[in-house]
Amino acid sequence: MSLFREAFYCLKAGVVSLGYPRGKDFIEPILPPVNFRGRLKVDLSRCSACGRCADACPARLIRISSEGEETAFRMEWRRCFFCGSCMYACPEGAVSFSREFENAAGTAQELEAEGRFKPVTGSSASQEEK
Ligand code: SF4
Ligand code: SF4
Repeated sequence: MSLFREAFYCLKAGVVSLGYPRGKDFIEPILPPVNFRGRLKVDLSRCSACGRCADACPARLIRISSEGEETAFRMEWRRCFFCGSCMYACPEGAVSFSREFENAAGTAQELEAEGRFKPVTGSSASQEEK
């Protein structure tokens, strides 16, 4: 195809891509579908530290350990492949997927998360997120 003809077809097609991060009209932010599996969220105020999510994770990226009076919940979530096993295994409904999809990072540490908390045992838990 000649360059002229190629340019003609391209111009004839008009704009076919969406603007980013907002739609083609640059007004509404683009959101993924409701059931999209984005970055995982763990609600530590509901966590009983049972460890079922860690056991269910094929990538073994969740670590739960007792540290003094607190429990530490760590995720090397950069290794997550969004299978959902942790979410299905949690009896407390504490694990869910967010719709957060802009997860590129400059360092591996930015894709790690740690929270310290007191597991739920009938009393309310305290929570601290990094
Ligand atoms: S979604 Fe799958 S890979 Fe990711 S943390 Fe949960 S169990 Fe592990
Ligand atoms: S997040 Fe759910 S499955 Fe994981 S330790 Fe807490 S209560 Fe157990």
